[in-house]
Amino acid sequence: MTNTNTTLYKGRFAPSPTGAVHFGTLVAAVASYLQAKTNNGEWLIRIEDVDITRKIKHADSAILNTLEAFSFEWHDEVIYQSKRTPYYLEALHQLDLKSLTFACSCSRKQLAETNTNVYPGTCRGKSLPEQNEHAVRLFAKDINISYNDAIMGLQTQNIQQQCGDFIIKRRDGLFAYQLAVVVDDALQGITEVVRGCDLLDSTPRQIYLQQLLNYPTPNYCHLPLVVDKAGNKISKSDSNAKISLKCKEKILFDALIFLGQQPPADLIESDIHNIWHWAISHWQLNQVPQEKNVPQKKKANRAPNTA
Ligand code: GLU
Repeated sequence: MTNTNTTLYKGRFAPSPTGAVHFGTLVAAVASYLQAKTNNGEWLIRIEDVDITRKIKHADSAILNTLEAFSFEWHDEVIYQSKRTPYYLEALHQLDLKSLTFACSCSRKQLAETNTNVYPGTCRGKSLPEQNEHAVRLFAKDINISYNDAIMGLQTQNIQQQCGDFIIKRRDGLFAYQLAVVVDDALQGITEVVRGCDLLDSTPRQIYLQQLLNYPTPNYCHLPLVVDKAGNKISKSDSNAKISLKCKEKILFDALIFLGQQPPADLIESDIHNIWHWAISHWQLNQVPQEKNVPQKKKANRAPNTA
């Protein structure tokens, strides 16, 4: 049968430059890379430095150097969100034209006092000007957004009840991650987003924005999050979590085990290219655990398949 599906698969890895690559970052890079490779697609890199206040000097080049040391190969130039403000402004303009936004003068302190994570609508009817010192929020409609995550299954969220009017431009003038990621995924033509489960809850907001901006919705695959023994997400800013390039073969092997793949035990003795070769020819997304949090230690408990 002729394959009539001509859409080129485009995946991406989108690290924030907030520190060095740790095991969790690598797991996300490996899974998104293997999905792109096994779909004959392209794999793009985007440095998500839209929040310049969290950026660590040289973390971007350290991340890219680590990816290079692991022999990842990417398509096109790496893009930086900090250089893409005109695209975010244009998207904001489109939303403004449709009267989907409003300015908000609430401070963090005021919102904390409301004791709810959902914005209570304080500035909804005030018609404040969209200017510095005011955040810009998107009106949240009372609709359910559902999507079928390729790993975590059916997800549904009511935008008004579970998120509320959310921020797309911050009081300090920076664009919010939710808007930037949606604009970039659309403009880069991303067909599938593979990333950690910490963003599972953000996805309905992103789909909502895609619908308002008439963008296509990519497929989503949310990976189990690598957590420490106490169940906390490993952070890029924790310098102890940085991976060592001295044992990259073992780390890549461990990432495959974490992702539920079953590499033969002796593959760990191979060079990085052989490990990639095995991974690309054996990758199975449906083997990835469906748990939201998996302790890093768990990899050691699983005996690799020696057959
Ligand atoms: N920049 C985010 C991070 O480093 C990932 C965002 C995404 O993949 O959408 O955790």
